Amino acid sequence: MRIVAEHLSYTYNPGSPFASAALRDVSLTIEEGEFFGIIGHTGSGKSTFVQHLNGLLRLPSSQKHYRPKRLKKGQAPPPATVLTVGDFDLTDKKTNFRALRKSVGMVFQYPEYQLFAETVRDDVAFGLKNFSKEKLSDAAIDEAVRAAVEVVGLDYEELKDKSPFELSGGQKRRVAIAGVIVTRPEVLVLDEPAAGLDPLGKREVMELLHKLHREWCKTVVIVSHDMDEISENCTRAAVFADGTVRYVLPPRELFRHAQELTELGLDVPLTAKLTALLQEDGIVVDSDFTTADFCEKVLALWKKRKEGAQ
Ligand code: ADP
Ligand code: MG
Repeated sequence: MRIVAEHLSYTYNPGSPFASAALRDVSLTIEEGEFFGIIGHTGSGKSTFVQHLNGLLRLPSSQKHYRPKRLKKGQAPPPATVLTVGDFDLTDKKTNFRALRKSVGMVFQYPEYQLFAETVRDDVAFGLKNFSKEKLSDAAIDEAVRAAVEVVGLDYEELKDKSPFELSGGQKRRVAIAGVIVTRPEVLVLDEPAAGLDPLGKREVMELLHKLHREWCKTVVIVSHDMDEISENCTRAAVFADGTVRYVLPPRELFRHAQELTELGLDVPLTAKLTALLQEDGIVVDSDFTTADFCEKVLALWKKRKEGAQ
C-alpha cells in the first residue's frame, strides 16, 4: 500500500486559546515496500503525522458531522488535502477505519506501558479480537498469536501463560510489537521503536524490524531521532521541522546536508561527521554513510595512496 499525503495540516484544539498547529501543509509519499524513516526535533510533528496513518487522528472532513466551510466571495479555495493509504481515503467519512487499523499497525513509543492483560497470550490476542469483524475460533486465535509471538523472537510455549509484567524490558517490547503485528498489517508504523534501550537492545529491535519487513509487513515506517539508526536502516527518510517537511531523501543524499541538519538542531551520523572532517583535509569519501560502506571506501582510498607512495 502506497501512502500519499498532500497539503496535510493539523491543529490541536482548533479555535481555542490552546490551538497549536502541529502539521502545516505536509506533502509526502511513502512507496510500498520502503523502510521509511521520519526524523526531526521534539515537537516537529512526527507523532502527529504517523498517528494520521491509521486514523488515530482524523481529518475534519472524515468526521461524521463535517460540513465544508463556505468560502467568502472571491476567496480562492485552499489546496485540497489528500491522505490515502492504499485504497483507503482518509479524508472521507465513509472510509472503513476499522479495516484501515487492521492494515496499518501502529506501535507507540514505549509500547510496553500499554500491556495490560493477565497473560502474554491474552495481550497479543486482544488486538486480533478487537480488529476482526467476524468472531474467530479459539484455534485460529491460538495459531495467529503463536505465529506473532514466534516471529518477534520469543518462545511461545514458555511465555504464553506468564504475566507480561514478569518479562524483561526487551521481552515486553517484543510482546507489544507482537500484539500489533498479529493482525498481519501490510504497513507497520513504529514511533521511536528503539527508544530507551541499551545499544544491544537497539540493535536487536532494528534486526527484528528488518525481519518483519522481509517476512511480515511490506512497508515499515519508523520515527527516530537517532541518525545512525536512519543511515543504517532506511531506504529514505523525511526530515520534519516545525510541522513541515524539509527533506525527503535516501540517507546517502540526506546526510550530504549535514550542515543544514545541524542548523535544524539535528545530529548527523558519525560517518557524516567523519566525512566532513576528512573533506577539510581534501580527502573525499563518497559513501552511503553506513558504517560498513564508509570503512570500505576509506580503506580503498588508503590502499590507493599507499600504492601511489611506493
Ligand atoms: P514530535 O513527535 O515530533 O515530538 P508531536 O507530533 O508530538 O511532535 O507534536 C507536534 C506539536 O503538537 C508540538 O508543538 C506539540 O506540543 C503539539 N501537540 C502534540 N500532541 C498534542 C496534544 N495532544 N494536544 C495539544 N498539542 C499537542
Ligand atoms: Mg513524538
